[in-house]
Amino acid sequence: MKYADLHVHTFYSDSTFSPEEVVACAKDKGLGAIAICDHDSTDGVEPCRIIGKMLGVEIIPGIELTVEKADADIHILGYFMDYTLGWFQKQLRQIQKARVTRIHRMVEKLNHEGLKLKADDVFALAGKGTVGRLHLAQAMLKTGGIKKLQDAFDTYIGFMKPCYVANIRFTPQEAIGTLLRTGGVPVLAHPNVTGKDEYIPELIACGLRGIEVYHTDHRPSVVAHYEQIARENNLLMTGGSDCHGLGKGRVLLGGVRVPYSLVEKLRAESEKIRHEYR
Ligand code: AMP
Ligand code: ZN
Ligand code: FE
Ligand code: FE
Repeated sequence: MKYADLHVHTFYSDSTFSPEEVVACAKDKGLGAIAICDHDSTDGVEPCRIIGKMLGVEIIPGIELTVEKADADIHILGYFMDYTLGWFQKQLRQIQKARVTRIHRMVEKLNHEGLKLKADDVFALAGKGTVGRLHLAQAMLKTGGIKKLQDAFDTYIGFMKPCYVANIRFTPQEAIGTLLRTGGVPVLAHPNVTGKDEYIPELIACGLRGIEVYHTDHRPSVVAHYEQIARENNLLMTGGSDCHGLGKGRVLLGGVRVPYSLVEKLRAESEKIRHEYR
């Protein structure tokens, strides 16, 4: 049977893996398809597709957008968007620019807390990718401000911690609406990581089509809980590892996989959305 991992990052956001490494790893794990879901960027999709064609791994275009509420940081995955649309890429470039400013602000806050660190240390780690807090945490580890990566989030830059700075503050309507207008299928990422089920009805009202029920950080009882919510609301149940290469220590790719039939369902849903919204 053919399987897919529907949540994979590359070095076009905060994974350490190049397209070559991601696709070779997927091939090695016996996956038939992977979705490239970088934060606020689709730049990794085309390079992965070129290598995917050579190695026989299907590359599904994806993305991971951030929605911010006063008390929650919600990630929305998109699948099968038409990522070649000019207005869409323009919007992504604006978000990427705002992320650079955000890193400068978080570094200033960390400096005030006594941590010696320069924004350029962070940008060096991000390379050509969308810069984010995982790069910041890695830089903090490198310059000796913290002892282990998780301490960066738990003490300084986790959501609402003292040195946290908000993202561009996309509303659910904006993020989900953007995806729908590109023909993308909007899916709520790792709901248990967000931990705010109370926002699910609003997301559904905005046009959410699926929930990432299967995820590296979802234990069996959590999976059962979200399977039920998905069933009750007629939502697709997706899954992926959320692999960041070595960015979070261990290579997670292929650790969570779904049957390929789900890829066909997402593709069909994207077709439906294209008829409805374009
Ligand atoms: P950003 O897009 O800049 O907000 O950063 C998101 C990245 O930071 C993702 O890779 C998350 O998995 C990671 N991250 C966010 N919060 C935490 C946390 N509390 N613990 C560990 N990683 C986190
Ligand atoms: Zn990430
Ligand atoms: Fe996420
Ligand atoms: Fe992710």
